[in-house]
Amino acid sequence: MREDNSVLVTGGAGFLGSHLCEKLLEEDREVICVDNFFTGTRRNVEHLVGNTRFELLRHDVTFPLYVEVDQIYNLACPASPTHYQFDPVQTTKTSVHGAINMLGLAKRVRASILQASTSEVYGDPEVHPQPEAYWGRVNPIGIRSCYDEGKRCAETLFFDYYRQHRLDIKVLRIFNTYGPRMHPNDGRVVSNFIVQTLRGEDITIFGDGKQTRSFCYVATPADFPGPVNIGNPREFTIFELAELVVRIVGGKSKLVFKPLPSDDPRQRQPDISLARQRLGWEPKVTLEDGLKETIAYFRALLAQ
Ligand code: NAD
Ligand code: UDP
Ligand code: UDP
Repeated sequence: MREDNSVLVTGGAGFLGSHLCEKLLEEDREVICVDNFFTGTRRNVEHLVGNTRFELLRHDVTFPLYVEVDQIYNLACPASPTHYQFDPVQTTKTSVHGAINMLGLAKRVRASILQASTSEVYGDPEVHPQPEAYWGRVNPIGIRSCYDEGKRCAETLFFDYYRQHRLDIKVLRIFNTYGPRMHPNDGRVVSNFIVQTLRGEDITIFGDGKQTRSFCYVATPADFPGPVNIGNPREFTIFELAELVVRIVGGKSKLVFKPLPSDDPRQRQPDISLARQRLGWEPKVTLEDGLKETIAYFRALLAQ
């Protein structure tokens, strides 16, 4: 019987990846963390570097990788619109070539493999909330397509390796997640609003602020192919989020309105019935509590 002891985490020096590496080490696993440091940093994992069960490898997943592991968590991919739109061709390559290489690796060593997919596979949805059975509404040629279609193609590859090569796969569709170790210039709404408020700058609301998202504090479940939605079903408008950040941080930031980027989804909320049933998983941290922790992290970071 395989012990599932050694684990490869791609994108392991990123926000979610670094929390995952930490969790796996707490469970006494051997962890190989692979990252090209595009959006992730050594600082995110520096507290793990002395651990003899932890290995940090600079590598780009669009190139083949030969290591021996029992499990793979494929998280490599810039996740914020600012970063994934910086070099869109590389973003698609990371999702698609990265998935092919990691699936090829999983096939050779018979490792189980998990894909960090995204709510973006639903695009700008006309079904609300979004269940896993919904196929989505995605623009194939817009500025978000490199990310959305790259992730959709990665899901296709995962399910074809599952059917064709009997790989043990898991696909998680993660909805807007936030927390400590997000990049301060990440460009995502939670980090932007917190950093702007802490600096006393204007808070930039794109569009009228009535578009909604459902924010989930960083968490990590597993087990069965999926796809399965992972997120917090409590939905907030961006305007409400801005007000909440200002209320917790205090200070004198004003809310200012900027143009809405193209293809920005109007609403988003996960239907998490499947995660509840099959994984016994549901989010435990409220937006207010999660924001407090995240604000404390950015306060310390900005003070340095
Ligand atoms: P992040 O940007 O902090 O982490 C991504 C990591 O991947 C970074 O460390 C980056 O350097 C690395 N990376 C990028 N391209 C690479 C490449 N070609 N080779 C090797 N490493 C590469 O973002 P995150 O929020 O931690 O997201 C992690 C994963 O979860 C991503 O795949 C993302 O699409 C997915 N996800 C995140 C969210 C969220 O809200 N945080 C939501 C849905 C899906
Ligand atoms: N691959 C890898 N590491 C491995 C095995 C494969 O990076 O340990 C890559 C290899 O570059 C290959 C891809 O995974 O192109 C897909 O592998 P697969 O065996 O599915 O397909 P093939 O080798 O037939 O293209
Ligand atoms: N947003 C905003 N101000 C910002 C950053 C983002 O109003 O400074 C909005 C953005 O237009 C979107 C929402 O907040 O409607 C969530 O954006 P994010 O980039 O965090 O994630 P995604 O759009 O991928 O869900």
